Amino acid sequence: MQGMLIARNHQNNAEIATTGCPTPSNRSKLQYGFQSRYSRFRLLFLLSFAAAEAIPQTDYDVIIVGGGPAGLSAISGVSRVRRTALLFDNQHYRNGVTREMHDVIGNDGTPPDVFRGLARSQIEKYDTAHFVNETVASIVPIEGDFSSFTVTDGTGKNYTARKIVLGTGLKDDLPATPGLRENFGKGIYWCPWCDGYEHRDQPIGILGSLVDVVGTTLEIHTQQSDIVAFVNGTDTPDVEATLASNRGDNWRDQLNAWNVTIDNRTISSIDRLQDGGKNRDEEHDRQFDKFRINFTTGKPVERNAFITNFGTSQASSLPTDMGLEMEGIYVKTAASTRTSLTGVFAAGDMKSDGATNVPNAMFSGKRAAVYLHVELSKEETTSKISKRSNLSARELEKEAMRAIGDDLASEWERAQAFQ
Ligand SMILES: Cc1cc2nc3c(=O)[nH]c(=O)nc-3n(C[C@H](O)[C@H](O)[C@H](O)COP(=O)(O)OP(=O)(O)OC[C@H]3O[C@@H](n4cnc5c(N)ncnc54)[C@H](O)[C@@H]3O)c2cc1C
Repeated sequence: MQGMLIARNHQNNAEIATTGCPTPSNRSKLQYGFQSRYSRFRLLFLLSFAAAEAIPQTDYDVIIVGGGPAGLSAISGVSRVRRTALLFDNQHYRNGVTREMHDVIGNDGTPPDVFRGLARSQIEKYDTAHFVNETVASIVPIEGDFSSFTVTDGTGKNYTARKIVLGTGLKDDLPATPGLRENFGKGIYWCPWCDGYEHRDQPIGILGSLVDVVGTTLEIHTQQSDIVAFVNGTDTPDVEATLASNRGDNWRDQLNAWNVTIDNRTISSIDRLQDGGKNRDEEHDRQFDKFRINFTTGKPVERNAFITNFGTSQASSLPTDMGLEMEGIYVKTAASTRTSLTGVFAAGDMKSDGATNVPNAMFSGKRAAVYLHVELSKEETTSKISKRSNLSARELEKEAMRAIGDDLASEWERAQAFQ
């Protein structure tokens, strides 16, 4: 190209030399020559950009789906490094039913909505952070050198982003037993760390399959000593065999060691007799719920609290709609929180490390923020480098402009000499 440039300049020199001075027509030819050369180099310059790896032009750097502790932590992390972010929240939180949150240091006893509200108001001060209380209906990858996505909300509105964080959580698949769902999270609880302490030393029932009773006993015996497992007809030879293979042939001895009794009757309903939200000892962190559990046969039993062993599933169909690789019910994630789809991260309860609590949701949301920020930065660096290596064209242009400028200057001097 440089050779071509020099040849073209010689051609112009020759043209001027034959006429002796720059006539108006020569001047316009000169100008035209300059413009056409300039256009060529401009084209080259633009082509060099087209060949470079292109950063997708999107509405946001990242879109986060989920306004629980995982999603909030992710948007906090990306906002602190000035990434533009939009968080979708359709406001169905796993712990939305519970009275208060525990085992979250600094927030032990904080109601979940107060915690989320405070988090959101603190994050809203970052002008790159945006929130919308809408459902995400679909997320579709866009083809390109680097990942980017079109996110469509429930109203059909489209948004684009270069990275996605899913923090859509799990839902608890509770049986339809009357009184169970209504009281879940309020004396009928899911994890010993979440609510056990407030019901310590009280008569408790374990609800769910026999297969989980030994595991639950190992977790709760430091808090309760009057334990009855209501296994709802699951004490069968098959389930006992599974329990023996999971926990050892001495599983009965293990239960006896903590005086756990098994009630295999079919449960018909659970009635609340007293509300621990109102009957509580604030000073000593005690809540006094009371329930009556009814059966299809025989007498009901009273308990102050229940701990449950029921299944969970993904709260959103987005992971399967997007074709993400699953591990059982969970979205398969690497330690980095990356999923099987490039550019998509998953944090909180939904991911495959099996840790389902608020501190872990916050940790993994933050982790997603760090990894995606660095991933974005690497892409931006790659794009810059690829532009620079193609930028021989840019340098060429500079060179060309210099050469053209030099030519014109010397020709102009010669023209002046003739006047
Ligand atoms: C009864 C109960 C009590 C608990 N108590 C405690 C406790 O005391 N301490 C503790 O550490 N853990 C507790 N947990 C566990 C805790 O709730 C979870 O670990 C935590 O909520 C996980 O956070 P997350 O952000 O992953 O999901 P979630 O908090 O469930 O948030 C999911 C978010 O995704 C949104 N979402 C889902 N799909 C879409 C969509 N398509 N579009 C837009 N938004 C969507 C939801 O609206 C929500 O904002 C408790 C759990 C239960 C069931």
